[in-house]
Amino acid sequence: MSFDTDVLISGAGAAGLTLAIDLARRGVSFRLIEQNAQPFSGSRGKGIQPRTMEIFEDLGFVDRVAAAGGPYPSLCEYRPDGTHKVSLLTEAEVLRTPSEPYPAPLMLPQFATEAVMRERLAELGHYPRFGMRLTGFEQDAHGVTAKMGGETDEHMIRARFLVGTDGGRSFVRHALAIDFPGEALGVRAIVADVRLEGLDRSVWHRFQLGSPATQVMICPLTGTDLFQVQAPVALDGEIDLSPAGLTALIGARTGRSNIVVHSVSWSSVYAMNARLADRYRVGRVFIAGDAAHVHPPTGGQGLNTSVQDAYNLSWKLASVLAGAPEALLDSYEDERRPIASNMLGLSTRLLEEAKQGTMRRDREARQLDLGYRSSSLSMPGSVSCRVQAGDRAPDTPCLGQAGQRTRLFTIFQGTHWTLLGYEPHDRP
Ligand SMILES: Cc1cc2nc3c(=O)[nH]c(=O)nc-3n(C[C@H](O)[C@H](O)[C@H](O)COP(=O)(O)OP(=O)(O)OC[C@H]3O[C@@H](n4cnc5c(N)ncnc54)[C@H](O)[C@@H]3O)c2cc1C
Repeated sequence: MSFDTDVLISGAGAAGLTLAIDLARRGVSFRLIEQNAQPFSGSRGKGIQPRTMEIFEDLGFVDRVAAAGGPYPSLCEYRPDGTHKVSLLTEAEVLRTPSEPYPAPLMLPQFATEAVMRERLAELGHYPRFGMRLTGFEQDAHGVTAKMGGETDEHMIRARFLVGTDGGRSFVRHALAIDFPGEALGVRAIVADVRLEGLDRSVWHRFQLGSPATQVMICPLTGTDLFQVQAPVALDGEIDLSPAGLTALIGARTGRSNIVVHSVSWSSVYAMNARLADRYRVGRVFIAGDAAHVHPPTGGQGLNTSVQDAYNLSWKLASVLAGAPEALLDSYEDERRPIASNMLGLSTRLLEEAKQGTMRRDREARQLDLGYRSSSLSMPGSVSCRVQAGDRAPDTPCLGQAGQRTRLFTIFQGTHWTLLGYEPHDRP
């Protein structure tokens, strides 16, 4: 039976790009298609959590995202009486340690993160095929036959596996008739990337906190001359997202007429939902990222969870394609779905706190304690060990075979397995 490719990936957002990069470095053949003719241009997911930074280090581009982005600014909260208070985004200052080299989230607009990812993919010899939409597929015991089309052409390809990294409205999820239960959260909001005058770029400005319907948050986007404006709006009706419309909205909510929006490079109005797919896999077809879970943006979890889904699935697909038992693929849903379920709870709780103006991102938002202890892949170890099977492997300084200084993360980097032995130094 002949195949055009091993893996077809539908959707070149953060999840699809992560999957593509990891498959590329593992030498697996794949096609990455994207319905839009151009890359996504919005700032949307602007927070890279420490756990994702660790993945980016393994995938070979953490220095580039760090150079393009920067630390989150402090929050400046303006009170109705005209006073203001500056504080940290996190519950306390978080410090780098040998085991946690990336302690705090990095700010980088989503369009810039995805640009770095495409650059890394290009280094590995691959490119997303823009303007190509998945329009149908059928699967059998051996593979998937998929139909896709551009503006002028339509064709079929045969792949061993299909992964839908095609966002919250996932065509793949719908086609598989996977239920997406959850709730509408009764909050509609705007998000817009703007150039404006009247605010300085040293802090994240938050007006009217504690007033859920009229707050407005204006955040300078590191590495750009843009600000990201976020504000709840009425559940129905047209919203004027022009520079004049946003200037008026900001003026009405801040009482300041000196904040003037000059241009809008991207904007969106969206209703917040918290939903989780019932299944992540049907036969040879998978969903990952927002296709499998949607939730409010509070806490900056979505892009990160999407990257981590793809990173979990990619090595398993590569292993099965190289001869590992197909049952390995079941561990993807077993491991990742509970993580998304907890994350939905976290982001919804933070949304409630944000409405009251009391939200602070705590350690849970940084995702460093996520693990898979109860996974079928994790053998219970001695309870006296601090690190158990399924836990995140911590970084630590260590010595290489020649006595040179190195780090565990440097030793882990790549597609190989690493066996760590805890043997006495002086063993003959
Ligand atoms: C205001 C806001 C702020 C946010 N802030 C954060 C944050 O700070 N941190 C964070 O982690 N997350 C944040 N998020 C969430 C984050 O943006 C998403 O979780 C993330 O984009 C999900 O990535 P993805 O690759 O799964 O899906 P997407 O980014 O939605 O990508 C899916 C892609 O699939 C393509 N596609 C769809 N259908 C087809 C088809 N049939 N054929 C081919 N291609 C198709 C789409 O065009 C799209 O490019 C925020 C979201 C919002 C709205």
